[in-house]
Amino acid sequence: MLFESTRGASPVVDFEAALLGGLAPDGGLYMPDRWPELNSADTADDYAATAINVMWPYVAGSIDADVFADICTDAYATFRHPAVVPLVQIDEQQWLLELFHGPTLAFKDVALQLVGRLFDHVLERRGERITIVGATSGDTGSAAIDGVRHCHNVDIIILYPEGRTSEVQRRQMTTVEADHVHTVAIDGTFDDCQDLVKAMFADRDFRERMNLSAVNSINWARVMAQVVYYVTTSRALGGPTSFCVPTGNFGNVLAGWIARRMGADIHRFHIASNSNDILARFVQDRDMSALDVVATLSPSMDIQVSSNFERLLFEMNGRDGEHTAAQMAAFRSEGRLDVSAAQHAEWIAPVFTAGRVSDADTLDEIARVHADCGLLIDPHTATGTRVARANGGDGPVVTLATAHPAKFPDAVERATGVRPALPDGLADLYERPERIRAMAADLALVQDFVASVSRVGR
Ligand SMILES: *Cc1c(COP(=O)(O)O)cnc(C)c1O
Repeated sequence: MLFESTRGASPVVDFEAALLGGLAPDGGLYMPDRWPELNSADTADDYAATAINVMWPYVAGSIDADVFADICTDAYATFRHPAVVPLVQIDEQQWLLELFHGPTLAFKDVALQLVGRLFDHVLERRGERITIVGATSGDTGSAAIDGVRHCHNVDIIILYPEGRTSEVQRRQMTTVEADHVHTVAIDGTFDDCQDLVKAMFADRDFRERMNLSAVNSINWARVMAQVVYYVTTSRALGGPTSFCVPTGNFGNVLAGWIARRMGADIHRFHIASNSNDILARFVQDRDMSALDVVATLSPSMDIQVSSNFERLLFEMNGRDGEHTAAQMAAFRSEGRLDVSAAQHAEWIAPVFTAGRVSDADTLDEIARVHADCGLLIDPHTATGTRVARANGGDGPVVTLATAHPAKFPDAVERATGVRPALPDGLADLYERPERIRAMAADLALVQDFVASVSRVGR
């Protein structure tokens, strides 16, 4: 299996290079050159074993089978639930897939526990070091840090917007005691953090000197890891299954689309947006135009540019990278992505529905689910169950529960009067000492800091 760029102007690479590179040199995203078909023999009783089978066609040739099996087994052993991602029925045709039993309480652990270990293995074998820089609104940073906390060949620097993450999110990042883990509170917004990271990557000399790498959701290996739970879940329900996905970046729902493309029995995807509704406007009205980001109760979906959509666009374009690159360039300069009515009718309308959920409705939904089922759900999950109820109605719908309620306790308490408790093992999070480093949103300052902590080339 080889990987090609969605912009068609980079050489094809193997899995290892796609993993370490993240973004292709032409600015595109890596896509496998074909879609392997699932077969029923892929199913095993435990999650890790199915994960090995489903992902194997993508990594074969780059990583030894035994090594890959061990990496998957170790990654999913960090989850607190024996089923790894348990499925919970909440109504006759409604389920929740609890993706938050990993170390940092959000679904990103499913991918990043695996990706951190893959990085470590590949770097160790090559005798290389990398410097990971990333921007986070909260969940990616904590999950990425936990994913690489035992990697000796990685220095990781995570930028987060000061005062805009939840306290649990911040503490999960600032209380990790490891010499190769660094967090920086940036005086600015998430977009400012993201811009600083992009600028560091755009500085070619700096990028090469630091051997920079990324763990944001454009990394193919993250998407690949997320395909697995769509496969296990649609098989567990044993018939055409729809999924409702709280998403901003389109990453999680894209993974579902790939599972369907590989042959999983999936009917439709319902996309749940908060007030940052670029995806909902696109699905409903073919309007993909970026507006200003507004802060909501579901901050991990406060995104106006859904980077992973480029991968579906590439497929919609018959894998024409040049055309995809031109569309993305126009999106960057005009703020609006032009997809034809015919393409929308063929690719989007039959497979996707979408809904937008305000903060008031999010709180109302958390309260409703608590009253009806006695379950506490987090605000991201609540946008999902809300849209699943509104748009479902043709068979079973599984809403992806993307975060543990205790990761966003203020919103949950506001809605229900109940403050969700942190699970065992994290109960002392509020007592652990924090290491906080604050910095202005200034590229030169941040680059100096990265250069001072990176061990690459030493
Ligand atoms: C990251 C995140 C999302 C959105 O994921 P996408 O990559 O945008 O699909 C939703 N909910 C939570 C809790 C998250 O951490």
